[in-house]
Amino acid sequence: MTLFEALTTARREIDRLDARLLLQYATGCTHTDLLARPETPVIAPAYEQFLAWVERRAAGEPLAYLVGEAEFRGRVFQVSPAVLIPRPETEVLIDLALEKLHGLAAPKVLDLGTGSGIVAISLALECPTATVVAVDLAKEAISVARNNAGRLGARVDLRHSDWFASLAGERFDLIVSNPPYVVEGDPHLALNGLPFEPRMALTDGAAGGDGLACIRHIVAEAAAHLRPGGWLLFEHGYDQGAASRNLLTRAGFKAALTHPDLAGIDRVSGGHL
Ligand code: GLN
Repeated sequence: MTLFEALTTARREIDRLDARLLLQYATGCTHTDLLARPETPVIAPAYEQFLAWVERRAAGEPLAYLVGEAEFRGRVFQVSPAVLIPRPETEVLIDLALEKLHGLAAPKVLDLGTGSGIVAISLALECPTATVVAVDLAKEAISVARNNAGRLGARVDLRHSDWFASLAGERFDLIVSNPPYVVEGDPHLALNGLPFEPRMALTDGAAGGDGLACIRHIVAEAAAHLRPGGWLLFEHGYDQGAASRNLLTRAGFKAALTHPDLAGIDRVSGGHL
């Protein structure tokens, strides 16, 4: 079996880029090896691993879970099925957060529902003067995030908490979150590998609801955990911008805003005290 033959076999079942990446992960070869030396033999254990991954990928399992990692903002994060796979649109949240942190001397930041830790870790690395606390309800997510923080050299205080429950009396300059917001029953939950991702990270689970239960809770509790002038920023769904700004305004936040992602879709809302 050669690299070329392995790739050809896989491409009958899965997308070309996925096939190439899985072959690289399984054999340790590079893209250049594939192009320049396609006749390189693939040893049996690597080929078996590759075929097993191709079958699982063909059945819809996301590539990131097969290989155990995904890239976000130029960094590689470990992922497991206990955490959501990083999505590029979450960069909007990071960019806005960094903008709000700009000029603050030693800001305290809180990330709610950190999952693999991409938001907390990116902020800790890109705003080194910040003190970053990150919480998650899922203990497995906290171990994934802790591992990522260690590997990437980020100082993040990771704690187990149901939103603000374990943060009594603590105040921050910035609270960020990528909470669950997909409406329960949205057909999107059955597509694109989402069935393999943790349901509790995707939806509030409220049948017949608007997907905003977690956002409502976060907005209602945030003021008690922000310093004067502090910002709250959170990611949400394509049609939740207006509702999010409404919630913020009614909770006493000023300058409620919504920012689009790179696809031009409403993605992050926020306001300050
Ligand atoms: N944007 C993700 C999706 O629609 C959902 C992420 C989330 O719920 N926080 O696949």
